[in-house]
Amino acid sequence: MDPNNSRMAAKSGLKRYRPLFVSSEVYRETGYGSNHPLAIQRIGTVLDLCEALGWFADAPYVDSAVASVEDLTRFHAPDYVAALQEADRAGKVSTQARRTYNIGTMENPFFSGLYRRATTSVGGSMMAARLASDGRTVYHPSGGTHHGVAGGAKGFCYFNDVVFAILTFLDLGLERVLYLDLDAHHGDGVQIAFEDDPRVLTVSIHEENRWPYTGAVDDTGCGHACNIPVPAGFNDSELRFVMEDAVLPMARRFAPDAVVVCCGADGLAGDPLSTMALSNVALWDAVESAVALAAPAVVVGGGGYNPWTVARCWTGLWGRLAGFEIPDRLPASATDILASLESDLIDEEDVEANWTTTLADAPNDGPVRPEVAGVVRKALKVVGHPVIDILANSNKRA
Ligand SMILES: [Zn+2]
Repeated sequence: MDPNNSRMAAKSGLKRYRPLFVSSEVYRETGYGSNHPLAIQRIGTVLDLCEALGWFADAPYVDSAVASVEDLTRFHAPDYVAALQEADRAGKVSTQARRTYNIGTMENPFFSGLYRRATTSVGGSMMAARLASDGRTVYHPSGGTHHGVAGGAKGFCYFNDVVFAILTFLDLGLERVLYLDLDAHHGDGVQIAFEDDPRVLTVSIHEENRWPYTGAVDDTGCGHACNIPVPAGFNDSELRFVMEDAVLPMARRFAPDAVVVCCGADGLAGDPLSTMALSNVALWDAVESAVALAAPAVVVGGGGYNPWTVARCWTGLWGRLAGFEIPDRLPASATDILASLESDLIDEEDVEANWTTTLADAPNDGPVRPEVAGVVRKALKVVGHPVIDILANSNKRA
């Protein structure tokens, strides 16, 4: 890939090629053992729904690459990668590895196929950035392990595939990468990975007072992070307000050459691990507005613990990115797929009728509460200066 071409594509802001969808059949194995919030079908359902809707016509689907040890150790500690490989070989985690690397725990269980799945997620995000660099959007919903840290597992994430998408863009000569995290939880792993790097601005919108309890509004990393913690019940109007009044103006001033968006689906109404109340249409709109900021764009998934709302959100997001019309009512083949899902975390009587018959949620508009307006004002105040500094420095370089 010629870096000059990548930069030209970035500056033009125009998508030069059709979007692509990167994933793998490896995710059909649910993994995580039992009694874990991620022991549900997510990507398999999305693939089946896209197929049923004819949304893989003209073969925009690309089978994911798998990351090598050499790839992984650019960010992850070699001893941690070796410990995961050893666990994969032995079929179990030693006590020492459990204590040192936080694997084989309730939070980050060891399961058969874990190493393959985690390395595929990293390989897929690297591949997505490479494919995007000629000026297109690449969708990798199996990515989004945004809590992963260099030396161990954290928050259901063994590696951090998002870090690798950003590193790939930087390797290709793109000078400024914007990361927008729409997951209900703070994108801590990505922020930490790049907080010393002025080429990367990380922006995270997440529910306040929720695990991992970082990402307060005055947390700007080393000046290259913006955090917007939002209250319970966060609605569509509030997300639109946060995007239009804070995120997009800040992002335009940063003038990214490439964008990476984490579209965790756990901020949707009905998710058991957050009390945000977004509709999927609001998330799609936010992703679309971020993807329009620069031509090369990678969109990854993230959290999401209600198998119905996750599948509808991530299927519909591909529809929107690829320019398909979202049907008002799903065909029977798609309804059957959604009707076959199960969850230990959601009671049968709480499964809403539209979760099996439609893709798009009804909008959840409401008032923009004073606390949301307040956090936006604060975020702009604390982040304003470092972003201006970054721009001033880059202008000097030019
Ligand atoms: Zn999350």
